[in-house]
Amino acid sequence: MADQFDVIVVGAGTAGCALASRLSEDPNRRVLLLEAGGDDNDPRVATPATFGALTNTRFDWGFRTGPQDHLSKRQINYPRGRGIGGTGSINYMIYLRGHPSDYDTWQQLGATGWGWEDVLPFFRKAENWQGSGQTDVHGETGPLTVTEQSEKSPLTEIFLSACRQAGIPFNDDLNGEDIEGCGYFPATLQDNKRGSTARTYLRSATDRDNLTVATGATVLGFVMEGKRVLGINYIARGQVRRAVAPETVLSAGAVGSPHLLQISGIGPAELLQSVGVEVRHNLPGVGENLQDHLHYRSRWEIDKPLTFFGRTAEDLAEAQRQFEEGRGPLTTNHFESGAFLKSNPGVEAPDIELLMIPFYVSLGAPEMRPPDRHGFTISGFPTRPRSTGRIAIVSDNPLDRPMIDPGYLSDPADIDLMLACIAQARRVVSQEAFADLRPREISPGPDLTNEEDLIANIREVSSTSWHPVGSCRMGQDKNAVVAPDLKVHGLDGLSIADASVMPRMNTGHPQAPVIMIAEKAADLIAARA
Ligand SMILES: Cc1cc2nc3c(=O)[nH]c(=O)nc-3n(C[C@H](O)[C@H](O)[C@H](O)COP(=O)(O)OP(=O)(O)OC[C@H]3O[C@@H](n4cnc5c(N)ncnc54)[C@H](O)[C@@H]3O)c2cc1C
Repeated sequence: MADQFDVIVVGAGTAGCALASRLSEDPNRRVLLLEAGGDDNDPRVATPATFGALTNTRFDWGFRTGPQDHLSKRQINYPRGRGIGGTGSINYMIYLRGHPSDYDTWQQLGATGWGWEDVLPFFRKAENWQGSGQTDVHGETGPLTVTEQSEKSPLTEIFLSACRQAGIPFNDDLNGEDIEGCGYFPATLQDNKRGSTARTYLRSATDRDNLTVATGATVLGFVMEGKRVLGINYIARGQVRRAVAPETVLSAGAVGSPHLLQISGIGPAELLQSVGVEVRHNLPGVGENLQDHLHYRSRWEIDKPLTFFGRTAEDLAEAQRQFEEGRGPLTTNHFESGAFLKSNPGVEAPDIELLMIPFYVSLGAPEMRPPDRHGFTISGFPTRPRSTGRIAIVSDNPLDRPMIDPGYLSDPADIDLMLACIAQARRVVSQEAFADLRPREISPGPDLTNEEDLIANIREVSSTSWHPVGSCRMGQDKNAVVAPDLKVHGLDGLSIADASVMPRMNTGHPQAPVIMIAEKAADLIAARA
């Protein structure tokens, strides 16, 4: 016997929580939200400053990429959130929507109705904007609080002064229509705690009788009749169960969504046949077009004790006590400022992003560890990478992990921009504002100056920015996976709403567009009903 709903949402991540919450506003619509992981009740989830402690825990699928051809054959840890809130429960909470031309590009690539003017109302609908900037491009009544950190590091101000000295203008709204310049990075913080879509949208919806949230429920594949998707099979507490609905929405993320399609026989025929999966619907683009921001961390050591390193157990206990009152150093997500730059004046939108991290990021295995000295880190990445990769099933067992190949640096143009990130970070730190600190460059290191050595170093140490998108691209060509109404091409009853449908990476960070996609999906689904 199958359980019957009006809409099934697969994956209670950033998109899934927002979508299920919006859809269940109509008391006549019965919504099932299924999540493989567990709840998000853990102080580490709530505490912005301890985000790094959540990878490789029950909140993380713990994926790893295949060996990267252009990164010295290294395999990169590739965290993806698992549990209520999904990746929004482990992310760094930065809220940067990108440049208006990102969305106009989506539209040009076939995502009709997703240009900037079309998507702006859905960003606004989500936002309870408390940052600076013009209000006509920001919403003030949405469920998602977007705000600056209430207590910032002194290194944040030093960085912003140095940027100004380097000729990078201060921009008081990096979510406005012109995002070039340096400024404060707003974050999704609710009362100085993590403000994921689970802790905002979903919390306000959980007592609705028409919304069923099932945790520990791993979806195994779709129930299909010809080209119609009738529902899903899932496993919960060791039992395989079935749920059916006229509409199933896949919100399993940029890894989970293409994986679930492929395992259900929806994807590139050749790939499916190669692992013994029956082809139900040949859709060559499923899993292709995977994009991510490759990340280089330039790091400096300082003597002045301006960072959290070396604090005693008493300091930490006091910080914890303050946090319970909604204040103090644990309320920051650390990513308080950064800059969007153009590598040359001819580019349409900033193609480089710098992120100031006001502590020394220790690298090694795992890739990020707690700081081992005072210092700071300026991360950088090309905002609109050209390199693409793919997600591909490796067997017909739904519980086997897919192969993840982000194809980092497969397009040589990205290497030039990685070099530009390092050059810009060095230029900022060479300004007068940093002079008092006498920063000592640790990486790339003062000896690495020529291009060849720098490129070798980039290949040796760069890592993910945790921003996979695009693996079920929206569009209207033969390789597109979903149409602009988010329905899977050639199938009835199945749509996708998450990071995977983004045709191109945004010039910022993906959680903001993912939430916008969920808002627009709710509208599209309501209109269909
Ligand atoms: C460490 C880290 C830091 C980040 N920092 C930022 C940041 O500061 N700002 C920003 O904008 N972005 C950031 N991101 C990226 C951002 O969080 C993601 O792009 C966004 O959360 C993706 O949302 P989603 O809904 O597409 O997927 P997810 O939030 O990953 O949701 C997918 C959900 O589906 C579930 N699922 C998957 N498969 C199945 C299955 N078979 N059955 C049932 N459930 C399933 C998963 O468990 C998960 O809960 C960060 C990411 C990471 C990992």
